[in-house]
Amino acid sequence: MAAELALPPFAVKRCWKCGVEKPLEQFGKNASKKDGRDGRCKECAARWHREHFDREKNGRRHSNYCKNNRERHGRYNRAYQKRYHLTIDGFIAAVWHRLNSRTINGSHPRWSRRNRPYLMAGIRLELTRDELKAVITANRSVIQAIWAAGGTPSIDRIDSTGHYSADNIQFIPLRENCRKAAYETVAKERAKKLSAQT
Ligand SMILES: [Zn+2]
Repeated sequence: MAAELALPPFAVKRCWKCGVEKPLEQFGKNASKKDGRDGRCKECAARWHREHFDREKNGRRHSNYCKNNRERHGRYNRAYQKRYHLTIDGFIAAVWHRLNSRTINGSHPRWSRRNRPYLMAGIRLELTRDELKAVITANRSVIQAIWAAGGTPSIDRIDSTGHYSADNIQFIPLRENCRKAAYETVAKERAKKLSAQT
């Protein structure tokens, strides 16, 4: 039973800065926090450092840079980006980008810690952007319901040994997806232990 298995207590958390719910490993380690992780995601922390140290180093040049790049760096733009990922179009773009970094035949496989298991398993991208768009559009109400419940929709392979194809994907809350992954890891370890005993 899934409920009996010990799962990591904080598999995902929401960044206070960007408001996005992310897997725990995307938050820096911080021993002073209850869950051992920063409240701000690594991406936000890196952005702050970049901007802060830029400002320290460049002084006036930075403020001119900001003025000249208000479109890119302005408050309005950041708010816009924050909202864009909460639209179906923004979601399609984000998922497409992620799938291309996670699959061996994707346009830019990226061997990050998160992607490594997918790449090592030889998971392939077996749908076009238009097909992804069609699946997401068909699942629009499921995705919007997850947002409405305060969650983050994430793409999941129905058969986790299969590839990313139009008939093997669904959208579930990130929290549930992490739980499923943790459950599968525990189940795999348990099976390994059992086969070692017999
Ligand atoms: Zn963040």
